[in-house]
Amino acid sequence: MKSRGLVLLCLLFLFAFSLAARAAERPDRQVAITIDDLPAGAANFMSASEITEMTTKLLTTLRDQKVPAVGFVNEKKLYKQGEVDQRIQALRMWLDYGFELGNHTFSHSSLNQEGLKAWEEDVIQGESVTRSLLAEHKMKLRYFRHPFLDTGRDLESRRQAEAFLTERGYRIAPITLDAWDWMYAPVYDDAKKRGDTKLQSDLVKSYLEYSDSVFAYAEQLSKQTVGYEVKQIILLHGNNLEADHIGELLDVLRRRGYRFITLGDALSDSAYGMPDTYVGEEGTGWLEHWAITQGKPPQGAPVFPQWVSDRAKQLHHPQP
Ligand SMILES: [Zn+2]
Repeated sequence: MKSRGLVLLCLLFLFAFSLAARAAERPDRQVAITIDDLPAGAANFMSASEITEMTTKLLTTLRDQKVPAVGFVNEKKLYKQGEVDQRIQALRMWLDYGFELGNHTFSHSSLNQEGLKAWEEDVIQGESVTRSLLAEHKMKLRYFRHPFLDTGRDLESRRQAEAFLTERGYRIAPITLDAWDWMYAPVYDDAKKRGDTKLQSDLVKSYLEYSDSVFAYAEQLSKQTVGYEVKQIILLHGNNLEADHIGELLDVLRRRGYRFITLGDALSDSAYGMPDTYVGEEGTGWLEHWAITQGKPPQGAPVFPQWVSDRAKQLHHPQP
């Protein structure tokens, strides 16, 4: 009896030791959640009650898990006849649930496509409802996210746009993690509508695996470019894929050692003040900005699953 007790004790010690070793191995990673294209990426194809249902699901998971988030709004999507109030109410829910809203321009216009003046007007037009909703909660409009991550096709317009945003009181919200949920979203919606549960679960599996590989890549790139792993900022979108499965995505992040922080906390990382002269037709993340600025264009990014982009193309479902 005595020796069995000893064996048990030894096993217990080993178990405790392996737990401690695993905790020591796991880095303290941090990520802020941002969710674009509110009230919903596909708002033009959704009824107000579908938008409300999606928003409720998404926000309930985030609130229950105490995960902070900032949502970025395209106010143009509010103006559907007979539904304006209900759509505004869906936005208000973000604040009622304890989250924050930022500006993503009125009509999701690209700085690379529009002239600077027209783009600036779109920024201003995108403020009115969001600003007044924030005021109801004694909050100020303070974050801006560039549509398509397009920050300007030349340095002069990039800097002019930045000066304009600063002048209006904005802090630009960069991103460092992006697994293209917007590409999955219309395929997922279509599968859901047709009751194709097999395709839905294939899409979710692919999305989570691809996300995991994107996170691993970004962690490496951050170490190479910044010298450490920055406080990451992930770009997600308001869609049913996230509403139904964001809990699983948060688990993927937790398994990699992430904890969830506010956007303000993430932006306190001095990396976000690093030299950044990136310009180009293609909007991209800030880790790429910094790498390209340093003359070290990143390589080896995970390849987006072809079958998903093929299916998305077949749908002819223009995303905003
Ligand atoms: Zn967007």
